[in-house]
Amino acid sequence: MARLTCPACPRHRGPGKYLCQVCWAALPATTRLRLSARDSRAFARLRELHGQIAAHKPLPDIEVSR
Ligand SMILES: [Zn+2]
Repeated sequence: MARLTCPACPRHRGPGKYLCQVCWAALPATTRLRLSARDSRAFARLRELHGQIAAHKPLPDIEVSR
């Protein structure tokens, strides 16, 4: 089984999770709420999250669209 790595740090992330627990907890509550919504925009929001992580934006400043 492949080991899942957090895109924002070297830690392990759980299956079905976008980030490890530490990085997830560092996101603003609004961002966590929006990322948790599994609707037709979920993949677009995940791409927004990954784009900001790739740009080294601090986790507490990351926002995604509704
Ligand atoms: Zn992490």
